[in-house]
Formats: sequence, structure tokens, C-alpha cells
Amino acid sequence: MKKTFSIGGVHPDDKKISAGCAIEVLPAPKTVYISMSQHLGAPATPTVSAGDKVKVGQVIGEPAGFISAFVHSSVSGTVKSVGPYKDLAGNAVTHVAIEVEGDEWMEGIDTSDTLVTEIPEDTEFIVDRIKGNGVVGLGGATFPTNVKLCPPPGKKADILILNGAECEPYLTSDYRIMIEKSRQIVVGAALMKHVLGVQHVVIGIEENKPEAIAKMKEAVLELSAGSSDYAGIEVMTLKKKYPQGGEKQLIDAVTHRQVKSMGLPIDVGAVVQNVATSLAVYEAVQKNKPLIDNTLTVTGECFPKQSNVLVRVGTPLSYIVDSLGGIPENAAKAISGGPMMGKAISNMDAATLKGTSSILFLTEEQTRRKEETNCIRCGKCVEACPMGLEPFLLNKLARNGMMDELEQNAIQDCIECGCCLYSCPANIPLLDVIRIAKGQVIRAIKSRTAPKK
Ligand code: SF4
Ligand code: SF4
Repeated sequence: MKKTFSIGGVHPDDKKISAGCAIEVLPAPKTVYISMSQHLGAPATPTVSAGDKVKVGQVIGEPAGFISAFVHSSVSGTVKSVGPYKDLAGNAVTHVAIEVEGDEWMEGIDTSDTLVTEIPEDTEFIVDRIKGNGVVGLGGATFPTNVKLCPPPGKKADILILNGAECEPYLTSDYRIMIEKSRQIVVGAALMKHVLGVQHVVIGIEENKPEAIAKMKEAVLELSAGSSDYAGIEVMTLKKKYPQGGEKQLIDAVTHRQVKSMGLPIDVGAVVQNVATSLAVYEAVQKNKPLIDNTLTVTGECFPKQSNVLVRVGTPLSYIVDSLGGIPENAAKAISGGPMMGKAISNMDAATLKGTSSILFLTEEQTRRKEETNCIRCGKCVEACPMGLEPFLLNKLARNGMMDELEQNAIQDCIECGCCLYSCPANIPLLDVIRIAKGQVIRAIKSRTAPKK
């Protein structure tokens, strides 16, 4: 029987209408705007100034703390400015704007298509390359990958899980890279396996992606026949259920281990990385290529040209959409990410980040919220919650500002998956209410537990 996670979950329609679209490389725009906040943790500190000449792959921002990451130029050209530029929510964030001139790469980056399968013995070298090339988790959290691959003292992983679930409706960029870059992803997995010193790697893919499963299995078979470095890597077909791509849900599905409230995957001996991160690790280590581009899906029933495109980091969203035919007339809303967890785009001039996975257009009809009615205590939100929470209760406590009770009822464990909202027959905006209250509770916990100065 195919595995899946044990608590809650829902089955939204797939809508993978861009699944058949091979990855197209989009030419660089005239100007890129590269954010210094490309990752979880402290924003990077810019290392260039207006007027500087830069090449593709050159460092333009360095980490400003332990949880931070290098940022590189995705183009060659002249730095136009270093300063505030609006992100997709309209917030001013420090960006480096670069006017594109030619396509000159830093020396030492291997831009050939040759597959490099030999795994370096030196794990420090691997981690340094991952860090130096600015690799961050591409499954949504953008946590610096080098940090995740070096568990704190006393913690040890015994399994690496690659997330190929891509359980959000509409998104197909991970699906396409699993088909088109399967061997590179498996080499990336072997590199991380070596760093972590684990014997077992599971690449979890949902059953609705048979072509990706076949390609990844073929790649594992081929590479493991050639070297023992690839032993212990397996592809696991998972039952389709949202949000299987959540770290805790994927660990449960693959290992049946449960990460406790406020716990981390490493507490149960697991490290989870996305398949796109594994590809970035391959490129960083084997090709010395910084994370300067990524594949994203441009989709929606109202969007005429379904696409998966490889774009340089810092490309304005408007440039991508215009290159593919422009914003559809009947589009009422654009989302970055999927419809369940994605964020509304309020500024189409915002630029892509390392972790941008999609631009999704929805019509008025698709986004219209139905009228909210009273809770009928049907319990559907409780049944659907993959974190075992009671969303109806959290909603009530949040609306009454009962912060202590919210914490006691573990609102901080909410993964903002939207399963409760999706299931509620009373159309109560559970996710919206819970998300705001969760932010307040986490801030309160942090201020209480922060070391005294
Ligand atoms: S959004 Fe939070 S409360 Fe709602 S189902 Fe997901 S984890 Fe549970
Ligand atoms: S699903 Fe909606 S109506 Fe049912 S218990 Fe939860 S909040 Fe109430």
C-alpha cells in the first residue's frame, strides 16, 4: 500500500495544467533587481555599489549572520543602484539593481552540460561550496542549506528525505526538473547523503506524477550501478494527499516518525530537502555554479500560455508575464506559489527570488469568497488539520484576543496549509485569522525566551 501522512489532509483538484510544458529558458531582462532578503534569517549585506561592473556569479551580498546566505549577481553588467525596491507585497527591501550588458560569467563556473557524478571525499569542501554558492531551501522556507546539513552537536540524522511531492495544485516546476534534470537531482542527493553520513535517502513523489517517478527511478538505477556512493537511495511513490510536502507530513509519510510540537525534523533523525534544492546543490558543488536562476511555473486557466520557465534571479515578474503574452484580461488575482499557501502579488514589478516557484493567475469567480456564516460545529476543520489542531477553537480564541489559550492550544504549530479553510462549510476565513494570531503568539514566545541582554 502507498504511504501517506497519518493526520488530516485534504484532496484539492490537481489542476497541473502546465505539467506537459517543458522548461523554457527566458532571456535575461534589461535590468534585474536582486533582493538581499532571498533567504530565511538576516538579510545579506551588499558588497557592491552603483557604478560597479559585475559578472554572472559574482558575490554582491554576503551573509550577515549564522542564518543568512550569500547572494550573487545573476547577470553581467553595471550596478545601477543599491537601495530599497518594492517586493511582491509592496514592502521596500534592499535590492541591487543591475543593468544587463552581455553575459559574462565568473571564471571557475562550469557552464557545460556534462554530468559530474563523482562525489568528492571532503565533506567540508562540499559544505563550503553549498554555502559559498548561496544555496537555500527551495521548498518554500529558503533556509540556508549548509546550516541544515550540519546538525547541532548531539543531533544526528539517519535519513535524508527529498521532497518531490509538489502537492500544491497548479505547480509543476519540481515535476519538470524531476523529468528533465533527474540525474543531477540524484547526484545532489548523494552529495548531501555523504555530508550527513546517512545510509538511506528517500525521494518521495506523489502517485499523480508517474513520469517523474519513472525518470527518477531510472536515474537512481543508472547512477547506483556505477558507484557505491549512490547505494541506499530509493524513490518512494506516495499516496496523493495535501499537504504531503510539509516537512513534518513527509517525515510521517516516509518513516512514520512524528515531530513533536515546536520540534525539528532532526529531533527524529531526519533531514528534508526539496528536489529543486538538490539540483541547486549539484550545480553548486559539481559545477561551482551559484544559485542565480530557478524554474518557475506560470499558469492559471485564464493564462493563455501555460509555462515552466528558467529565469535569472531578480527578473521582474512583469517581464516574465509580458514575455508570455501579458496579464490576461479576466485575471482578478495573481499569486506567488500555489492557491493553498501562496501569497498574493500586489506588485507585478517585484522581482523573482531564489525561492519563487510560480505566478498563478485566478479569475474573479475563482477568488470570490462565499459569505461567512456561523460555525456549525461540524468538526471538518479538525478532521482536515494535518497538525492535529482545532481550527474552530483557534479561530474563536483569536477573535477574542486570548493569547495564552492560543499558545496552550498550540497555534504556533500551524503550518498555514489552509486545509481548515478549504474544508469549512461555513466559509469562515480560518487561515487568515489563525495566521495573524499565530504571528502574535510566536512573537510573544520569542520575546519571552530571548536571552536577556
Ligand atoms: S492552516 Fe493551520 S490550523 Fe488550518 S489546517 Fe493547516 S495547520 Fe491546521
Ligand atoms: S469546519 Fe467550519 S463550521 Fe465546521 S467546525 Fe470548523 S469552523 Fe465550524
